[in-house]
Amino acid sequence: MSTAELRNLPSIDRLLQAEVVVQARQQFGQELTLQTARELLEAVRSDIIATDATCPSLPELALTLVEQLQLLSRPTLRPVINATGVIIHTNLGRALLSDEARAAMDSAGAGYSNLEYELEAGQRGSRYVHAVDLLRRLTGAEDALVVNNNASAVLLCLMALARDREVIISRGQLVEIGGGFRIPDVLQTSGARLVEVGTTNRTHLADYVDAIGPATAALLRVHSSNFRQVGFTAEVSLADLVALGREHGLPVVDDLGSGTLLDTTTYGLGYEPRVQDSVQAGATLVTFSGDKLLGGPQAGLIVGSSETIARLRRHPLTRALRVDKTTLAALAATLTHYLRGEATAKLPVWRMIAASGDALAARATEWTAALRAAGVSAEVWPGESTVGGGSLPGETLPTSLLALPGLPPDRLAGLLRAGDPPVIARITRDTLVLDPRTVAAVDEETLLRQVIRAATDQNT
Ligand SMILES: *Cc1c(COP(=O)(O)O)cnc(C)c1O
Repeated sequence: MSTAELRNLPSIDRLLQAEVVVQARQQFGQELTLQTARELLEAVRSDIIATDATCPSLPELALTLVEQLQLLSRPTLRPVINATGVIIHTNLGRALLSDEARAAMDSAGAGYSNLEYELEAGQRGSRYVHAVDLLRRLTGAEDALVVNNNASAVLLCLMALARDREVIISRGQLVEIGGGFRIPDVLQTSGARLVEVGTTNRTHLADYVDAIGPATAALLRVHSSNFRQVGFTAEVSLADLVALGREHGLPVVDDLGSGTLLDTTTYGLGYEPRVQDSVQAGATLVTFSGDKLLGGPQAGLIVGSSETIARLRRHPLTRALRVDKTTLAALAATLTHYLRGEATAKLPVWRMIAASGDALAARATEWTAALRAAGVSAEVWPGESTVGGGSLPGETLPTSLLALPGLPPDRLAGLLRAGDPPVIARITRDTLVLDPRTVAAVDEETLLRQVIRAATDQNT
């Protein structure tokens, strides 16, 4: 061990006087710069003692310090380019918001608003009014309530209606949504007792009838959002459940998961239950997500009978699930697009779903040409995009992919993820592919630059 080298270690004052560090102090603040400089010098000192390393020069140390400061103050939540072709990608933030929704969030965040204030009367109001009228109009429901997400919406419904009592559900609907949301667990958390009826593949009305007893509080239907049953299957229709519920004075809760206001079959997709259809069929409460097919902010929307919604509103849990003003602002702006009949044009989720095959092929072809011009061999492949987010399982939309055959896909994917901004791609048939459907036009140039860099770096 040689400590002679330690004499070359600059004092903290000298490090702080280095020109780049003086600039960094302006940007990152005195406190953080000082603390980071101390930590850096301490780390270098330990390194010298432990490994006989040579002491870096003052300019080297100054640069390292600035790099560390940049790293420390870089947000961990960063924009990425989603080239996976999965439109509602839960890991990448689900639905993108419309320009109008983002502007509404900005203005709600920047200034005071009449969030809970009745301007005419000059008195306290309710934050829920800002979405209720829109939701009533769009779904045909008597009343509506907005909470943090759909998981909490389901929890609230069960707690308010069925605590310490029984909820009947088909065995075919005891689903796990992902992210640990399992219907049996939610039921248990709510304090309601789960009564399973039928079998995994087939449940009949008689199964529900047999299970109804004095302790029954509600009938629950859960949409099997993320998987599909085929073959010898039977489910009881919502209309039949509603009729049964009426006969016995029981509320029917319909958890649609994604839920949609638009008809998915118009876009070449399978049928995803529409919220207004469930309301029409007479469900007492219908719950769905704000950031799946609705294309808005994270929220849980509950629509249904005014009497039952009033009960939910009074429940203490509702206060704990209260949504933020920026969420309400974005939600109202999103719903307004539907009201004006401009949802497909304005909402990114629906724009991506509705993107034409020709437009996608043209973009993939352009990308390929740009890569070839840069010496990267690329091809256009036919492929499939998915809606994702627990909607329309097994359903795909035809797309054109940019494929990079002949290059190591895992290494390439890693290099793309390490870029700034990171690009998230997909691997198909041992080849890295990028789907233009989920890539915004403004990100194309950046994406291509990143791909060229990664393709060039992969063999170094
Ligand atoms: C996605 C989903 C949920 C959870 O909704 P979040 O908004 O993610 O909390 C609940 N039920 C079903 C059927 C779903 O598909």
